[in-house]
Amino acid sequence: MMEERGLEPGSPPGPARPARAGTTTLVAVRITVIGCSGSFPGPEGPASCYLLEAEGFRLLLDLGSGAVGALQRHASLDSIDAVCLSHHHADHCLDICPFWVARTYGPDGRLPRIPVYGPAGTAVRMAQAYGMDSRPGMTEAFDFVTLAPGSREIGPFQVTLAHMNHPVETFGFRVEYAGRALAYSADTGNCPVLVGLASQADVLLCEASYLSGPDPGPDMHLTARQAAEHAARAGAGRLILTHLVPWNDQQRSLAEASAVSYDGTLSLAAPGQVIALG
Ligand SMILES: [Zn+2]
Repeated sequence: MMEERGLEPGSPPGPARPARAGTTTLVAVRITVIGCSGSFPGPEGPASCYLLEAEGFRLLLDLGSGAVGALQRHASLDSIDAVCLSHHHADHCLDICPFWVARTYGPDGRLPRIPVYGPAGTAVRMAQAYGMDSRPGMTEAFDFVTLAPGSREIGPFQVTLAHMNHPVETFGFRVEYAGRALAYSADTGNCPVLVGLASQADVLLCEASYLSGPDPGPDMHLTARQAAEHAARAGAGRLILTHLVPWNDQQRSLAEASAVSYDGTLSLAAPGQVIALG
């Protein structure tokens, strides 16, 4: 297995450009890790949030605790076109609250409504999180769209969704554009469906919340080793371990994943890391 330790933090902001036939240098999709801390923010960065850009369209996968702060280093809050929430745990969705404030009360007035995709009940869950009545709740700022397993278009992306193995309804994502594919596990325990979702993907962003040790139960999170086993079964080209819990030793997570027979490249996610596809 190849270990890839050279991350790409600090790439300059700006829209990813569409790929063109006959050229090899343009980036089709750019993925920026806004936050990859598992379960709660860490000293170096926020909880789960990933910025995907193609054709100038900006999609956020998850908006976890603390993400709105770090996001502003990479994209202005008025430039986001859509948000996809994998599930309703706080470390994946709660920064919808400050995002709503920024898009509602800015000096230029309320910004145009954008779609927020999430599991059933997202609009009510977010209104409750802010302590407001559910009508109108945040619906004047966000067009809440309920997700279901299957495929749909979001901006220029083809997004395939599947249920993961987690205590609340949770979606994993496969995002495709210009022949490139990113898979994202969100939160999950052992999940054969994730293997299908990530089949032959260029990149699998896979949660690795646990280190090896006493069995924590099958339906919550993956160990780093299990993440690598899922990537190997899927034939994913590159595995990036994410949802890294602050109390764990990240190098031990990397070492445990490295023990799996996996032909792709392996690395740890890091805040500010930019992954170019295309
Ligand atoms: Zn969760």
